[in-house]
Amino acid sequence: MNFHVLTLFPEMISQGGQTSILGRAIKNGCISIQPVDIRDYTENKHKKVDDYPYGGGAGMLMQAQPVYDAYLSVKEGIEAEKVRVIYLTPQGKRFDQKMAKELSKEQDLIFLCGHYEGIDERVLEEIVTDYVSVGDYVLTGGELPAMVMIDAVSRLVPGVLNNETSADFETFHNDLLEYPQYSRPEEWKEKRVPPVLLSGDHMKIAAWRKEQSILRTVQRRPDLYEKYELKQRVIERLLKKNKFLYMDMIESLRRGRGEFIYNEEGGVTVWDADADVYMLAAFEEAPAKEMVKELPYEKGMRQIIVHQEFLLRKIKERFRIEEIMPVKHAVYTQKVPLFIPKDIEIRPLGIEYLEEVTGHYHMVSEDYISEQLLGGKLAGAFVEGRLAGFAGEHKEGSLGILEVYEKYRRRGLAASLEAYMINRHLANGFTPYGDVLTDNEASLRLQEKLGLCISKDELYWVIAEERCNESHV
Ligand code: SAM
Repeated sequence: MNFHVLTLFPEMISQGGQTSILGRAIKNGCISIQPVDIRDYTENKHKKVDDYPYGGGAGMLMQAQPVYDAYLSVKEGIEAEKVRVIYLTPQGKRFDQKMAKELSKEQDLIFLCGHYEGIDERVLEEIVTDYVSVGDYVLTGGELPAMVMIDAVSRLVPGVLNNETSADFETFHNDLLEYPQYSRPEEWKEKRVPPVLLSGDHMKIAAWRKEQSILRTVQRRPDLYEKYELKQRVIERLLKKNKFLYMDMIESLRRGRGEFIYNEEGGVTVWDADADVYMLAAFEEAPAKEMVKELPYEKGMRQIIVHQEFLLRKIKERFRIEEIMPVKHAVYTQKVPLFIPKDIEIRPLGIEYLEEVTGHYHMVSEDYISEQLLGGKLAGAFVEGRLAGFAGEHKEGSLGILEVYEKYRRRGLAASLEAYMINRHLANGFTPYGDVLTDNEASLRLQEKLGLCISKDELYWVIAEERCNESHV
């Protein structure tokens, strides 16, 4: 991911990105931070970039011409037709973790840092796509806010954090604040580390941490806790209605990824922000039309998961359908990890396996596999040091991407790979589940052999595109 920063003080940006995690991410090519000196683009022979505001008033204003030309120079070097230009301003939308997650999916971002009293409105109208503030206070320039955003966004770019799962459990991820943490020594100033953390009992530790997270959120951020509680209530409802059919929505909410698009007595629509997937569950026919209408307008193909056949009819009225895949959920409801024979070597796969994995698995695009590899979401089984098959996690969190090469089949590798992924999800406190195409007998048999429960009801993965764009713009 490339961050381009338009600024009058480029050294503030280049110095800020040299150390620690950002510095390492730049070195290994996961991100780049390029400051662009707006002053280099002024047509004024004295290198002036500011002037008095028309109508009078305090201070100076950055002029349109140098800002615009600096922007054009960056834009020219970016392949994509559209690129987001973020103007840092106390008048903007408040930056938060959700926005950071959304921005982390972009390939390039341009930040525009104001100074003095700000920037001539005309150039802002011409180039800015997002107005963003880091908080309700006024700073002297946009450089520190830009660095705050770059830091928070970078942490979510696959490959930037060493331990790939650590961002999944941080504060804000699950609408809860993080639990308190302790390091050596066991006793300091007569304060002892809570004994449960020394017990080695992972289940008890996880339960204690969850309890502490809740307590802390109630005390420090009651507004966040309210959001969390609402999600818990919907999870309870979905569990009661049909636990197996709605496991994707339940897990999306439990893992802190799902947001409500629609939440009424007759149905729920969850948007999984990380995967950009919409999941619709209608408990009766009446709200179906309304639920489909409420899906936000978006250009291009998108994935919608529909849990009732009658919803499909309404989906077809609004969208052009590219593909419908009927699937069933396979859910691992037990808490005990599965057995994996010692002589089968399974370990996480890195991005260096991209070519090999895409050469064997064609259900999703190369970009998709690349993101999952960078995110540490795939594991491989090795026989005599050679990759013999792999399994992984889809973007919305279901298990899948399972493939064992022809010559290594019938020796239990598929079962062991899936068991490995199930155990990983259990260790993270998730309920492991996958989606199996209804007519894939072999996969259904494998799921049952491993002890997963198959949902009685079908759901539908739909790839669709807006039919009449004009009416929604
Ligand atoms: N006169 C401007 C106003 O009232 O909106 C404030 C100008 S401020 C002194 C100078 C620059 O600092 C702004 O153009 C903006 O780029 C940056 N800035 C200041 N506070 C900020 C904040 N809370 N969030 C993001 N950027 C900020």
